[in-house]
Amino acid sequence: FDFLQESDPLLASIIQRELQRQRDHLELIASENFTSSAVLAAQGSVLTNKYAEGLPGKRYYGGCAFVDEAEQLAIDRAKELFGAAHANVQPHSGAQANFAVFLALLQPGDTILGMDLSHGGHLTHGSPVNVSGKWFNVVQYGVGRETEQLDFDQIRELALEHRPKLIICGYSAYPRVIDFEKFRAIADEVGAYLMADIAHIAGLVAAGYHPNPLPHCDVVTTTTHKTLRGPRGGLILARDAELGKKFDKAVFPGSQGGPLEHVIAAKAVAFGEALKPEFRAYAAQVIANAQRMAAQLQQRGIKVVSDGTDNHLVLVDLRSIGMTGKRADQLVSEVNITANKNTVPYDPESPFVTSGLRLGSPAMTTRGMGEAEFTEIANIIADRLLNPEDAAIAEHCKRRVAALCDRFPLYTHLGGLVPA
Ligand code: PLP
Repeated sequence: FDFLQESDPLLASIIQRELQRQRDHLELIASENFTSSAVLAAQGSVLTNKYAEGLPGKRYYGGCAFVDEAEQLAIDRAKELFGAAHANVQPHSGAQANFAVFLALLQPGDTILGMDLSHGGHLTHGSPVNVSGKWFNVVQYGVGRETEQLDFDQIRELALEHRPKLIICGYSAYPRVIDFEKFRAIADEVGAYLMADIAHIAGLVAAGYHPNPLPHCDVVTTTTHKTLRGPRGGLILARDAELGKKFDKAVFPGSQGGPLEHVIAAKAVAFGEALKPEFRAYAAQVIANAQRMAAQLQQRGIKVVSDGTDNHLVLVDLRSIGMTGKRADQLVSEVNITANKNTVPYDPESPFVTSGLRLGSPAMTTRGMGEAEFTEIANIIADRLLNPEDAAIAEHCKRRVAALCDRFPLYTHLGGLVPA
């Protein structure tokens, strides 16, 4: 960092201020986390200098001996972590991983069945603004109105009616366990490929606290930076090595150029960390913390979607207190809590306003917080949302956030703020 400070003080100051923001705020965005310093070191390494189109041992460039070793390590660890026959660690992001799967398995005009964005699906699962919605005939399922959970009768009916070539499960804002076996049965009935996008829950799957989709799905995609706590990136896993080769080709040369070998090295580090027993304990705490936060919010009279959570995220239904997601997002951010507004199932509000607030436990669990702290976090949120006009309460909430952040320091080796 000293080098950056010397050569580009402006950019160095921007990064320092971002570090300070990460330290001073309660990070409750469900899709974010804090990587280890080892992951940061690998990502900030000389491996960024290397072109390595192709795969380990089969490159289009010379000088790949060491990046081959790093990428092979990432592949082997990913396979071990998820029990996969095949892994491609090159996708630059979750969206790139999904795109490569579509390129490998589908033709434009084919039918896909995925979850509606407003019920918790992802943009890349068939939203009209994404290539998945522009190139394919999209049929969307949602959650049941009463249960707010997956409705397999509806999913099966839609599959039988529309005969999709690909069924997608795995979500961005779904707090419950996904039954991959039930999806497999439906896919088999209609002869569809089954893809699980476990971007959000990958760390919980790796740790054994969520069922593993690999025995049931033809392909599994994920990001590496959410509960899995690695660098920002994507990953494709397959249970069949032959099909896996199709995904390799769809990543390169199908949809990407040179792989980001520095990021791949950082993925290898993160997968190595996730294979350790400490990571299992971390994942268990992530779930315990989210469940504690959900229970405390409910105790304070604030409803959460599906009345609880089985994973790392809590979707607050603000209709229970007559508030929009946009307003709640703004209110918590004023007291240094970072979260995001989110649609709830059957949301009457637009995606810019919404009736929900999505909260997640992965990042603050990484900082070391447990259930007592998550009780306090839920109480701070409730105090703020239930007293939106009270400046004294807002001030008190801010102080409580600062006290929590002070007790659980972040990246202490990176030093303090350099005066601008
Ligand atoms: N899939 C799901 C389920 C996600 O939640 C996300 C990101 O939020 C993605 C894919 C996309 O990942 P990325 O932002 O790395 O492209």
